[in-house]
Amino acid sequence: MSAYSASDRDDGLHAESELKKFYRAAEQSPSQLVITDPNGIIEYANPRFCEVTGFSRDEIVGQTPRLFKSGRMSSDFYRTLWKTLLSGIEWQGEFLNRRRDGSLYWERASIAPIKDSDGTITHFVKVAEDVTERKRAEESQRRSLKLSEAITAANLRFIETGSLTHMASVLLDSCMTITNSPFGMLYELLPSGNADVLALCLASFDPISEEPVFRDIQYDIRRHGHYEANHHPSIFFAPVSEGTTVVMNSPGDNRWKGCDCPLCTPALTTFVGIPLKVGTNVIGMLGLANRDGGYPDDDIREMEKYGQTCALAIASAKAELDRKQAREQLRQAQKMEAIGQLAGGIAHDFNNLLTVINGYSTLLLQKITNNDQMRKEVEQILNAGERASTLIRQLLAFGRRQMLEPRLLNINTLIAGLHKILCRLIGENVTLSTKLAVDVGMVKADPSQIEQIIMNLVINARDALERGGTITVETVNRYLDEDFVRKNGGSVAGDYVLITVRDTGMGMSEEIIGRIFEPFFTTKEQGYGTGLGLATVYGIVKQSNGYIQVQSVVGMGTEFRVYLPRVAETMNQNTGGDILPLKAERGATTGLILIVEDERAVLDLSAITLRTHGYDVLTAPGPQEALKLFERFSEKIDLLLTDVMMPGMSGPDMVQIMLAKRPDLKVVFMSGYTDERLSVSDCSEERLTFIMKPFNPASLVNLISDNIRRPDGQASPETPHE
Ligand code: ADP
Ligand code: MG
Repeated sequence: MSAYSASDRDDGLHAESELKKFYRAAEQSPSQLVITDPNGIIEYANPRFCEVTGFSRDEIVGQTPRLFKSGRMSSDFYRTLWKTLLSGIEWQGEFLNRRRDGSLYWERASIAPIKDSDGTITHFVKVAEDVTERKRAEESQRRSLKLSEAITAANLRFIETGSLTHMASVLLDSCMTITNSPFGMLYELLPSGNADVLALCLASFDPISEEPVFRDIQYDIRRHGHYEANHHPSIFFAPVSEGTTVVMNSPGDNRWKGCDCPLCTPALTTFVGIPLKVGTNVIGMLGLANRDGGYPDDDIREMEKYGQTCALAIASAKAELDRKQAREQLRQAQKMEAIGQLAGGIAHDFNNLLTVINGYSTLLLQKITNNDQMRKEVEQILNAGERASTLIRQLLAFGRRQMLEPRLLNINTLIAGLHKILCRLIGENVTLSTKLAVDVGMVKADPSQIEQIIMNLVINARDALERGGTITVETVNRYLDEDFVRKNGGSVAGDYVLITVRDTGMGMSEEIIGRIFEPFFTTKEQGYGTGLGLATVYGIVKQSNGYIQVQSVVGMGTEFRVYLPRVAETMNQNTGGDILPLKAERGATTGLILIVEDERAVLDLSAITLRTHGYDVLTAPGPQEALKLFERFSEKIDLLLTDVMMPGMSGPDMVQIMLAKRPDLKVVFMSGYTDERLSVSDCSEERLTFIMKPFNPASLVNLISDNIRRPDGQASPETPHE
């Protein structure tokens, strides 16, 4: 029983008005208010809370806060929350919740237990604020910080490795992580409109990473630093062809058609592609794909900003690479030029010495009877001398001082002719595959020299394939454009036939690549390599006005590319003529020969050789002396045998003077080398006969006898190679 006094009633009225006041405060509070019973069943939610969540009060009351769960908070999070509250302590923290329409929002909440006078928890009250905007701003700041860290990391990577691919992969990986994308690609746009993929990444947890086709792309990127994909109307090219960001937030949005290339293989669910631009110039694309739920506008704006910085970073890295490459090539070219001159000079002097050594040895042999004890010893001298001649010939080739006999050639025919020899050279566990373009153009070059190039490259490839593998020889027409020339110092724009020799062998390190064309540089064991193979190749290519490139990755193989200038098909196919076989029978060996040679020993040897074979010989140690003799005997001289390079006056200049007086004079040049300065431009080509030093006496006699019998001054060309 209880009796109410007036003051009780007053208290009651006061309490009621207080209650109303609190109720109105709760109803109109700018903060969200929720009250639950001890089991978490919602008893009250204020209008602000309803407004934020989008639920009506009726939909909320009687439910638990599970109704708003986003699924993004861990179960640990909720466990700690309840543990705190049930132990009677207030909890403060931030939630990611879900609205009625499914969208997510952040709230910052304080939840407190309400206790009765016994301390028993009767309710919980939550006061919360929507902090989505603040969170978004923080998140965006965090992200842009991460993205600028990524750019710094990519730049550092480039400085460390000098590799555009490594740089691109840092740029791509970081932004895939930041945007939570399982698939991404970064490519550079080529002038042709094709894409050079620099980085392609599939997060390892994604099943499409098992796609074998991606291995081709990854392999190319690792081996060549890029994978070239032809332009086609797939979504991957859309950002560069449209010049703007392309977004696909569900597979149905894709109006671009793929093809069956590796790029188009992954099934795309969502995609954002950003053109990489420097100014208005599109230089490539950064593409991200397959993020759950697609790419919201905010993220895209950030990616666009990132794309701009990426484009600048890539463009400046490329400029740096171009500069470095140009410097390096200039250095290489200067080095090769210097070594070439040195080697050529030495070879020239050696040539003269070898002509003497081999010549006198031959003469000696002719005088020694078969059973003479000394014969073996002289044969040894001649043997060694001839081996030295072979070496010297290679050095001359490197020094670009060989006599070339350029002819119009079809490289495919030449390679087909070599096929058998090459197969025999490479042995059984190596496969030789040839891919010869049917329309390959003609080149003007010395066939035996081009054969030499191919053989040397194939032999090296075989040596690199210790455990077997494949050597591929390819031919194709190539136009070298200004862009190529800019990037490859020493090359000249124009039409070329490209011969590629590729192996799957052990490859080479950068240090080795920098030295391979030096004469005598070898990594092979003593007795296995001379180090002259590539030096010879280099010299021949240069002398043929070609260009050579090498690309190699340790453990993955090597590719040599030889570009030879292509000539118009309409050129007279007979230019240069075929090499005539030496005639077997010789005519009478009589006649007067004037020999001009500044190298005393060579002069004497030639004179002795020719006299031994029945000729009359006049000798002159230089052009001045020769012209004096010519004055006196001009009518009687049948043939002039002369050196090309002599002090005071060149052989060709001297010949010019003599020909003015005796247009029918027969002339044979002997030379250890030739280069531009020695081209005998003033003498019409058919008058020229050369003999290459060092020569053996027999070939000199053969050549002289052939020429002296010629009725008309027409040359009977002697191959300079033997
Ligand atoms: P040699 O073959 O006598 O060593 P070369 O001038 O032909 O001389 O080659 C020089 C060096 O270049 C070789 O010793 C080798 O180290 C390297 N090389 C050339 N071609 C290849 C190749 N296809 N693969 C790997 N290394 C190669
Ligand atoms: Mg070799």
